[in-house]
Amino acid sequence: MTMITLALSKGRIFDETMPLLAAAGIKVLEDPETSRKLILPTNQPDVRVVMVRATDVPTYVQYGGADIGVTGKDTLIEHGGQGLFRPLDLNIAKCRVSVAVRNDFDYEHAVTQGSRLKVATKYTHIAREFFATKGVHVDLIKLYGSMELAPLTGMADAIVDLVSTGNTLKANNLVEVERIMDISSHLVVNQAALKLKQEPLRHIIDAFASAIRKD
Ligand code: AMP
Repeated sequence: MTMITLALSKGRIFDETMPLLAAAGIKVLEDPETSRKLILPTNQPDVRVVMVRATDVPTYVQYGGADIGVTGKDTLIEHGGQGLFRPLDLNIAKCRVSVAVRNDFDYEHAVTQGSRLKVATKYTHIAREFFATKGVHVDLIKLYGSMELAPLTGMADAIVDLVSTGNTLKANNLVEVERIMDISSHLVVNQAALKLKQEPLRHIIDAFASAIRKD
């Protein structure tokens, strides 16, 4: 029996991957929100799901801890994508990466004046590339969470973060001043597994492809 291991993270990615798995005839048998198990069984004895941190999904697939995974484009860019085949944009967990500042901060003036901008973010690759293309000098401050706090405490002028409804920014007196890119989650596949486990992986990739919502 060839075991297929799928890496997922809790939350939107897990929830929005379930209908795609259903299209492949796969049903996860435990709820990751209540189960303490890191490896979840499915109704298919040769398919299992490993629950990992969102930022670890590309790493698990790259090194063969999982054969396939679902991960945000933001996470994929920051990881670099080495060793990963990326056959499908799943059009799920959609949001955007944007620049936000305090609503009393004159962003336009700051970026045209040629002064250095202090930018706090988890997305250092995306932020560096974006501001380099604009010709804006930035000092990047790497954070791992609650980016919104950085401008409020005076630690940074701006943040680069994921925005979905915009409610989190609004609740913290921040405004979105630039949209850097649209984000959705992608299917990633270990390149060696794609050759060694071609048939079962093809079945999953094809079923996912036919179930993607186009909108
Ligand atoms: P919102 O208030 O709806 O704009 O959501 C913004 C907050 O949710 C931020 O803290 C983001 O980091 C997080 N967020 C939004 N969309 C996603 C997503 N697709 N994946 C992970 N985190 C997200």
